[in-house]
Amino acid sequence: MSPHPTSADPDLDHDVIIVGAGFAGLYMLHKLRELGFSARVLDAASGVGGTWFWNRYPGARCDVQSFDYSYSFSEDLQQEWTWSERYATQPEILRYIEHVAERFDLNRDIQLGSMVEAVTFDEVHTRWSVGLEGGETLVCRYVVMATGCLSVPKRPSFVGLDSFEGESYVSGEWPHHDVDLTGKRVGVIGTGSTGIQLTTTIAKDAGELLLFHRTPNFSLPAQNRPLDEHFTREMKAGYDQRRKEARTTTRGYPVPPILSGSSALEVGAEQRREVYEAVWSNGGPVFTSSFADLLVSQEANDTAAGFVQSKIRAIVDDPATADALTSFDHPLGTRRPCVDTGYYETFNRPNVSLVDLRDDPIIEITPAGIRTSERSFDLDVIVFALGFDAMTGALLRMDITGEGGVKLRDRWSDGPSAYLGLTMAGFPNLFTITGPGSPSVLTNMVMAIEQHVEWLADLLEHAQREGVHRIEADDTAEKAWTQHVVDISDATLFPRANSWWTGANIPGKPRVFMPYIGGLGTFQQVLTDVKDRGYTGLALS
Ligand code: NAP
Repeated sequence: MSPHPTSADPDLDHDVIIVGAGFAGLYMLHKLRELGFSARVLDAASGVGGTWFWNRYPGARCDVQSFDYSYSFSEDLQQEWTWSERYATQPEILRYIEHVAERFDLNRDIQLGSMVEAVTFDEVHTRWSVGLEGGETLVCRYVVMATGCLSVPKRPSFVGLDSFEGESYVSGEWPHHDVDLTGKRVGVIGTGSTGIQLTTTIAKDAGELLLFHRTPNFSLPAQNRPLDEHFTREMKAGYDQRRKEARTTTRGYPVPPILSGSSALEVGAEQRREVYEAVWSNGGPVFTSSFADLLVSQEANDTAAGFVQSKIRAIVDDPATADALTSFDHPLGTRRPCVDTGYYETFNRPNVSLVDLRDDPIIEITPAGIRTSERSFDLDVIVFALGFDAMTGALLRMDITGEGGVKLRDRWSDGPSAYLGLTMAGFPNLFTITGPGSPSVLTNMVMAIEQHVEWLADLLEHAQREGVHRIEADDTAEKAWTQHVVDISDATLFPRANSWWTGANIPGKPRVFMPYIGGLGTFQQVLTDVKDRGYTGLALS
């Protein structure tokens, strides 16, 4: 049984409703329980895990190292759990999340199969009603949106989609049953992190694989490996220290000491190449941290991009395919680099070919396959790996109505605005974990989630102690923070790319650089400062 609402308001079903049972929702529930709040998690899925529940496509794996991409809040948990590989697969991450839910007895307060449709503020009583598909309504003091940054897949909208007579799959809604692609002629559309992982994996089974490729993305080698007992023992011995350090870093995990940290232009070409070689061999997404100025200086960036291009050209045998894969239209790192295990090598397989869509776009899906402006491709299976309506998609899918009947959809019609990525003026007592304006997707998500959850839990405890019933962002503070987020991204190369960070991947979505680029450690200083100064920028009443 859940405890009674600590606010002792008989009209409340719970103190807090948390939407989403992924990493964020589970930790929020655990934290609130510790503080004596009654809380309930709602999730549309039939299991916990959030993005790791849904994204079960072949090859799905995380490109932040497993021992960093995991909760740090419990030393016992991190000592007990052992990761098998440097980069964990989706099934292993899902098992971990399920383990956490059981270990901390969270499942009894998680209501699955519950799609939240409408969230409405009652300003007379300072409470929220949360309406579910099917008609159930729950009333609470606070709502925490733990709805994830990459949880609403971009669905295909190609002409003729429904006419296709073969099998088709959306990567973010992959079926729970086995999909046998053996010997089949498979088309994959999309070459982001998802498409690249799918391609590398499916190529081993498919009779023929055609990758429909529009914009080349930089992909860096994971250098994945099994983690042996010795490594794990050493890592765990220093785990606490590693996590402390992680909280002060930009990325939410320590980067290897081989990174030089200086300007790429201050060193000679040979020394620069040695640094790139070392970071390439070490593997993972940290390549863009090889030098301090890669993401602020085009000239510096060109040196790194040139190195990666030469690596790709050395791997891919067919010159036309290598050309298509290396005709980058954005600086390295200004779209999220992919991390792969043998992606470029895959194009040397006889059963794999790349269909370059830039001058020959997809016109329609036909009963037999895909027709581009110049060619037709017969296929047994089409896999859509088209990305996500990132960061705002899950929030705006719900009908969220704040004070005075204002809809979040209207408030954000020119782009999202939130104070510290956590809360919005006009939406009292409603919070977003890793919302727009926080480091979130530019960092290790699990550390970013812990940072937000812990700060929010402190705030709610403070409110409880002080008899505060209403917490709301000050409009001026929210605007100033949102402007700051834009200003610091404008000082970098990031806005030059059409990335999902800017909303550019969704037709009609306002173009705003959404995450806070200053890094997890700097953001922690901001959060601490706001708290220490009595929660500046928030009205507590
Ligand atoms: P994404 O990076 O947005 O890539 C979507 C791909 O679909 C792009 O290549 C895009 O081409 C293509 N596309 C979209 N609409 C299309 C259309 N109408 N016609 C042709 N192509 C189309 O999405 P994602 O691969 O799912 O990755 C999103 C993020 O999820 C990643 O950046 C990462 O943060 C996370 N993720 C992480 C991992 C990991 O940890 N390893 C794995 C998967 C995902 P254009 O670029 O030309 O639009």
